[in-house]
Amino acid sequence: MSDVVWADILGYVRTGHPAISRGWFSQLQARSLESGELTVLAANAAQIAYLNEHCGRPFAEAAQAATGRLISVRFVAQKAADARTATRKSADGPLLSFERETSPLRLNGNYLFENFVVGPCNRLPHASCLAVSESPGSAYNPLFIHGSVGLGKTHLLQAICHKVLDHSPTARILYLSCETFVNHFIEAVEKGALDGFRYRYRHVDLLLIDDIQFLAGRDHTQEEFFHTFNTLYQLRTQIVLSADCRPSDIPSLEERLVSRFNCGLVARIDAPCLETRLAIIHKKVKMQSLALAEDVALYIASRIKSNTRELEGALNRVRGLASVAGRPIDIALAQRALGEDETDLSRQIRIQDIMGLITDAFNVKLSDLQGRRRSRSIALPRQVAMYLARQYTQHSLGEIGGFFGGRDHTTVLHANKLIKSRRQTDLTFRSQLEELETALQRP
Ligand code: ADP
Ligand code: MG
Repeated sequence: MSDVVWADILGYVRTGHPAISRGWFSQLQARSLESGELTVLAANAAQIAYLNEHCGRPFAEAAQAATGRLISVRFVAQKAADARTATRKSADGPLLSFERETSPLRLNGNYLFENFVVGPCNRLPHASCLAVSESPGSAYNPLFIHGSVGLGKTHLLQAICHKVLDHSPTARILYLSCETFVNHFIEAVEKGALDGFRYRYRHVDLLLIDDIQFLAGRDHTQEEFFHTFNTLYQLRTQIVLSADCRPSDIPSLEERLVSRFNCGLVARIDAPCLETRLAIIHKKVKMQSLALAEDVALYIASRIKSNTRELEGALNRVRGLASVAGRPIDIALAQRALGEDETDLSRQIRIQDIMGLITDAFNVKLSDLQGRRRSRSIALPRQVAMYLARQYTQHSLGEIGGFFGGRDHTTVLHANKLIKSRRQTDLTFRSQLEELETALQRP
């Protein structure tokens, strides 16, 4: 994880949860971010106890807001982490990186079947993964899940692992990304440790490789994978693969691998429809014990159509902004979080800014703007102020009227129309207005 993201996370915690923040938080370190789990290193057991008791949720929320991903957080003490690495090193000699990385199995605790929303877009892949987890090796072998990014392939593969482990806690499961497989292979070749590599990959009860399209163009790894595949297949060991496209569409994938991948079940995940997106939002909101009004959920679901990861990211941005700005989550906040990402809430134009600008520019008093007088010298500044409030703030017509001495919404609407049309016809007025607008938007 980059320092910037880590600094963001700490920033979120400090702003959103000042009561639990402590000075020593600045000494915490982000040790790793893998498979959806952020490991945070603390100096001692006392800090760990404090973090575990008070800070799990705030850190998870902050990590999610900063990365746009659903992340769980684990706190570990510096000493314990060092000791574990040291004993493993001294007992086993130098470890190949794949031994370090593949044991123990790193799974995201949230990627369970129970947390997966089923809809028309993913019914078959979901059902086939469930079947495989219930009877590995006999339902569909291999099972090949494909679909574009962020649609839940990794979630489903990990859900299989969780479920199998629930039934058989000692099952030897190897779940990894294809990239890791490729790196392990290269490392094993370089270190002359191919036997160890083969032993590791061929003595398992379940092999799941995510994003198998990474085999594209890697002839040697493809060759090795072909043999791994055949060995496991003959042993009736369950193999599950995922990719961003069909087997035959993976560029320069050997024909014999394409036909192996096609010989079990190939299931495609499609982008979720509106109902499914809405159900996913409800699920995530429930998992985070968050309250979200129905109109806001619907707004997010209709805005974010491409994939589920972005949907989750959008939800996290909305929540992050609400916590930083200390505002309740409503449509206006959601619009700001999703639409104008880069707009800093602190630079949001407030009605007070408009009042200040108008009183200066027209040399009138605030009490005049808010008062009853209708003389032309005061009516025009008041109308301009209403117009600006309508254009540059999120306030409703009624609210704007309220700021101007309790006038009703039709008055605001009328002012807005009047200024708009005068802007079209009166060039001097227009440039005057533009000057005001520029001043208003100046940071
Ligand atoms: P992929 O591996 O296809 O790129 P992921 O499995 O990483 O996608 O999914 C991205 C995010 O969207 C994950 O946080 C996952 O939990 C969530 N997600 C995807 N599909 C669903 C679904 N049907 N129900 C609930 N969450 C989902
Ligand atoms: Mg994935």
